[in-house]
Amino acid sequence: MQHIPLTGAYLCQDCNSVGNSAMNCPACASTVLLGLAGVLNREEAADNQVKWPWIEAAAAQMWTEVAA
Ligand SMILES: [Zn+2]
Repeated sequence: MQHIPLTGAYLCQDCNSVGNSAMNCPACASTVLLGLAGVLNREEAADNQVKWPWIEAAAAQMWTEVAA
């Protein structure tokens, strides 16, 4: 199975295929491509410290309410 590094993955806006060319969609040759690395922002997600800060905040709030 072929894999594409996120930094080289581009979503075609015309046919919704993901390819590894920033110039042309490998499926339909469209030039309307969206780089996925920027959209998914993996640099922040790769930080293992706090992946889901809003969930931790919600959990803390819930426990505060239970204890009260
Ligand atoms: Zn395409």
